[in-house]
Amino acid sequence: MAELRGSHGKARHHLLTQHFGAAGLATLKGYQKLGGYDTLEKALAMEPKALVDEVKASGLRGRGGAGFATGVKWGFMPPPDGGPRYVVVNADESEPGTSKDRYIIENSPHMVLEGILIAAFAVQSHQAWIYIRGEYDRPYRMLMDAIGELREAKILGSKPFGKDYPLDIQMYRGHGAYICGEETALLESLEGKRAQPRSRPPYPAVKGAWARPTLLNNIETLATVPWIIKHGAAEYTKFGTEKNRGTRLLSVSGNVRKPGVYEIEIGVPFTHVIMELAGGPFEGRQIKAFWPGGSSAKVLPASRMDVTTDAEALAAADSMAGSGGCMVADNSACMVETTYRLLKFYAYESCGKCTPCRVGGNWAVRTVAKILAGEGSRLDLQILDKIQAGLQDGRCLCGLGDSAGWVVQSAMNHFPEEFEEHAVRHTCSVKRERAAASA
Ligand code: SF4
Repeated sequence: MAELRGSHGKARHHLLTQHFGAAGLATLKGYQKLGGYDTLEKALAMEPKALVDEVKASGLRGRGGAGFATGVKWGFMPPPDGGPRYVVVNADESEPGTSKDRYIIENSPHMVLEGILIAAFAVQSHQAWIYIRGEYDRPYRMLMDAIGELREAKILGSKPFGKDYPLDIQMYRGHGAYICGEETALLESLEGKRAQPRSRPPYPAVKGAWARPTLLNNIETLATVPWIIKHGAAEYTKFGTEKNRGTRLLSVSGNVRKPGVYEIEIGVPFTHVIMELAGGPFEGRQIKAFWPGGSSAKVLPASRMDVTTDAEALAAADSMAGSGGCMVADNSACMVETTYRLLKFYAYESCGKCTPCRVGGNWAVRTVAKILAGEGSRLDLQILDKIQAGLQDGRCLCGLGDSAGWVVQSAMNHFPEEFEEHAVRHTCSVKRERAAASA
C-alpha cells in the first residue's frame, strides 16, 4: 500500500486508488491479475448476513453526500419474500466540483462492479441497476464493456463462480437533471417518470424501485466494499477517525495549482488538501474561501482551513463533508458574484415540486442580480436573508432547497462586508483590485 506523509503528521494511504494506473486495470484480465473478483468469490461463500455485519463493523459511511452508515443501510432491507429486490447504484454524479466517481469508474470499472455484486449478494438481490449521469459518456462505455466481459466470463449469469445465485447488472443513462442525484428522484427517473423526489416514508429499503425493496448506494461507497471484505473490517477501522472510518476521494477544483482527485485518510485537515496536495494558490494570490463538500456544503473562509475532513468536524464548523468536492476560491473571487452563479444553478435545477424551492430560488437569484447590478439597498439584504431562511430546515421536500439557502446564508455570514459593499455602496473592491492587477 503506497504511503506518503503530509505536514499534519498522518500517513497518506491509498486503499481505493492503490492500483490506479496499472496496465490493463480497466479490463477483466488486468483486474483479475491483481486479485480482482477473488473477493466476490470469497463473499459468495459467506453468509449474506456476515457480509452485512462486516460492512457494519467497518464503519463505512456513504460517500454520495448524506454520509449514512452503509452497513446499517444494508441491514434495513427486509427479509426476502420471493419477489424481486434491487441494488440501485447512484452514478449520477452532478454536484458542482465533484468528479471522483468518474475518476474511479474510468480507472477501475471492475472494482465498482465487484462492489456492486458483493452488495447484491449481501442484501439477497439478483438484479443491480447503475443509474449513470447522461453526460458521463466514457464512464458509461467503460462500464458497459466491463459488464460485457463479466457476461462472457459467466461471472454475471446464472452461476457466478459455480454458485447457484443468478446475478445481473443493467445500466441506465440519466438525461441531465441534477435532481436525479437525490435517491427517490433517481428511482422515479429509473422507472421512466418525471424525476421528482418522493415523500418519505416509505423509504427505498421498503418500497424503492418498482415499489420493491431497494438498496441505493453511491459508486465510491460500493467501490470501497471489496477492500473491506478482502482485508476485514478491523483493518479498515485503522484508518480515519473514530466516527468516520477509512479513506475517501476528494475532488479539488478552483483557484489551486494542482486541481485533481486525491485519496485522503479521513481526518486530515483541509490545509493539507488545499495547500499541499492541490499545491495552494497561484503566485501572488491568497486562498479566500472553500466549499469543503461540493457546492451544497456551506462555504468556509480560508481561516477555517484547519478544519479536518471528517463529517463531525465539518458539522462543528457549520458545513459538511457532502460529496467530497472541495472547491477553492482565491482573493480574485467576488463572493457576491459566486453566490449569484451558484444560486442560478440551484434555481435552474429545482424540480418545481415544492413552493419554497420553486419560488424562493428564483426570487433569491433576482435579488442578488439586483444587488450585483448596483441597484440594491439594505432592504434587499434583509429580503435575501428572509428568503434563505425560508428555504431551509424542512421547508422543502429535498436537500436541493436547503442547499440554495445555504449558498446565501454561508456567504452572507462569512463575507458580510462584500454584500454590504455591493448593496449599500454599490461598488466591488474585488473587481477594482482585479482591474488594477490586469492594467
Ligand atoms: Fe424539487 Fe426543490 Fe422541492 Fe427538492 S426542494 S423537491 S428540488 S422543488
